[in-house]
Amino acid sequence: MLTVSIIKADTGGFVGHSAVHPKMIDTATTAINDAIDSELLIDGQVACCGDDLSLIMTHRHGMEATPVHGFAWDTFHATTRVAQDLGLYGAGQDLLADAFSGNLRGLGPGYAELEFEERPSEPVVCFLADKTEPGAWNLPLYKIFADPFNTAGLVIDSKMHAGFVFEVYDLYEEKRIEFDCPAELHDMLMFIGAPARYVVHGVRSKTLGHPAAATSTQRLSLIAGKYVGKDDPVMIVRCQSGLPALGEVLEAFTTAWTVAGCMRGSHHAPLMPVAAGNAHPSRFDGPPRVVALGFQITNGKLVGPRDLFDDPAFDGARRQATQVMDYLRRHGPFEPHRLPLSELEYTTMPSVADKLADRWEPIEGHLVPAQQRGDTKTAIRERGPAQQPVSGS
Ligand SMILES: [Mg+2]
Repeated sequence: MLTVSIIKADTGGFVGHSAVHPKMIDTATTAINDAIDSELLIDGQVACCGDDLSLIMTHRHGMEATPVHGFAWDTFHATTRVAQDLGLYGAGQDLLADAFSGNLRGLGPGYAELEFEERPSEPVVCFLADKTEPGAWNLPLYKIFADPFNTAGLVIDSKMHAGFVFEVYDLYEEKRIEFDCPAELHDMLMFIGAPARYVVHGVRSKTLGHPAAATSTQRLSLIAGKYVGKDDPVMIVRCQSGLPALGEVLEAFTTAWTVAGCMRGSHHAPLMPVAAGNAHPSRFDGPPRVVALGFQITNGKLVGPRDLFDDPAFDGARRQATQVMDYLRRHGPFEPHRLPLSELEYTTMPSVADKLADRWEPIEGHLVPAQQRGDTKTAIRERGPAQQPVSGS
């Protein structure tokens, strides 16, 4: 069995949060080459999106393997030292733990991994995004694996006709569930339509049993207990031969979907598909970017990448992203540009609320009777922070 791992971290930005310094890329590339020489890895490459550095690796150690995760941890410490020497912004910001312990779960770096039997021809796309969160993949994954208007193969390919199984994580409750699609599609959309909380972790083919896609599902703000940056996500998607064609996978990014992230990780903004050379969010630390690196994997070797969004066919989505960004920016600190309080609750909202807590005065006799008001508060508390009280429509 072959494992493809993308492990990523922001270990320092150049300049601000916009990009990775070339010396950090050199350091990571040297580490990857050493790991190939020592046969820890079959192959590996370094790629970037914004201020996030990704290690794209193939190996035979399986998923969440200690030697591979430990290698990534050490590599990110090496790039952190480079960032510190250069005085880069937020050096080592994603390394939340003092020591490595078995795998990277909860330690800060994000990872997406797929383990599979390599097919005679194995086309794979590695998606890297910056200034957004893992739930940003929910809508494209729905389009790719469940929407016949995006993916013709769901109708006309006998190996895809039965559909796909989606594994979804609840990031707040640390629970998982599987949805059998299309039969349970409507149930699934109720959840994955709330991408801050429910995130598609993986997709597999019902007919072939093959794993088809995997995403990174860490959430730094929840891990760290305070805002430390959105956990910019990565995703691996396998293509062709009973799985969606390459073009069906990419088609899901021809609309600049609105995602959470952008400035201070606290705004909704459009996700712009770009060539790797343009994956440097600048305006208002955005718009959020996504790059698609295509590989043919042959005997575990990464043949590629092809820079798949380096194509005028995505100019329309880029123009749309610019227009949507103009429109949303005019809202300034107002929702829906700024994230709802339920999201900021995990970040900066509590400190502002604490400061003003003593200055709020009760308005007696207004709104609802005291008894009902108490019930409402209890109900809100029990519903939890993911939902907001709704008044009126
Ligand atoms: Mg980033």
